[in-house]
Amino acid sequence: MSQELPCLRCQALGEIDPACPRCEGSGTVCPICQGMGYVYATPPQRGLVPCPCGLAYRRQSQALAAVSALRGRLLECSFQNFRLEGKAREATKAFNAVVRWTKELTGWLVLYGGKGNGKTHLAAAAANLLISRGRPVLFVNVPEFLDWLRETYSRSALDDLEGTFARRFELVRDAPVLILDDLGAESDTPWANEKLYILLNYRLEMRLPTMITSNLRFDDFPGRLRSRLGEVGFSVLVHNPAPDYRLRTGQVTL
Ligand SMILES: [Zn+2]
Ligand SMILES: [Zn+2]
Repeated sequence: MSQELPCLRCQALGEIDPACPRCEGSGTVCPICQGMGYVYATPPQRGLVPCPCGLAYRRQSQALAAVSALRGRLLECSFQNFRLEGKAREATKAFNAVVRWTKELTGWLVLYGGKGNGKTHLAAAAANLLISRGRPVLFVNVPEFLDWLRETYSRSALDDLEGTFARRFELVRDAPVLILDDLGAESDTPWANEKLYILLNYRLEMRLPTMITSNLRFDDFPGRLRSRLGEVGFSVLVHNPAPDYRLRTGQVTL
């Protein structure tokens, strides 16, 4: 943009801060939001909305990247390099469902069933595609997240004066798009289970786009989550079993 304004924060600091949240280290800010990232909505909408300059999204994406489990080989996963040959017919269904979910980003998608049939690949492919399009998406590995919850639980509140726990928990809970990979059976820490349930229930209530992959059979999902998912009409359950499973048509879509 040609009419950018000088960054007042960096001016006050007397030098350009490379990590400046307003000018992102450029020394100049967007003339519309002046480096705040948000502007007042035009009626009838109310409140603040992200500025078209995209600063709010870039900030959000950076914060999400810090807690993301999307790394290593997962960064290579795409829809193009997902191999359908040799996989059960259900893999095609799962593939199509993930592509559709990535395009529409409404509701929930739950991929469950046998191991080794590419659920994580599809989840990572969705995340990579969305990130390449500048959508703030968070890819979380559930066992890792539960470990982190447990570890935080074992520390006293005095050790967490900065509120790291609350901030990180809210970041995951409020992520505009959340992909939870590898949901397992209940962990042995009831507190961690409770936190995970609260998080998922909140996202169901708020209708925030969420994808879950799990090697469990749906019947073995943590009880409360299973019944909650059963209640909500907009979640799609795709049974993606190992090749030797027989397709149970009643379970494909709810
Ligand atoms: Zn600045
Ligand atoms: Zn702006």
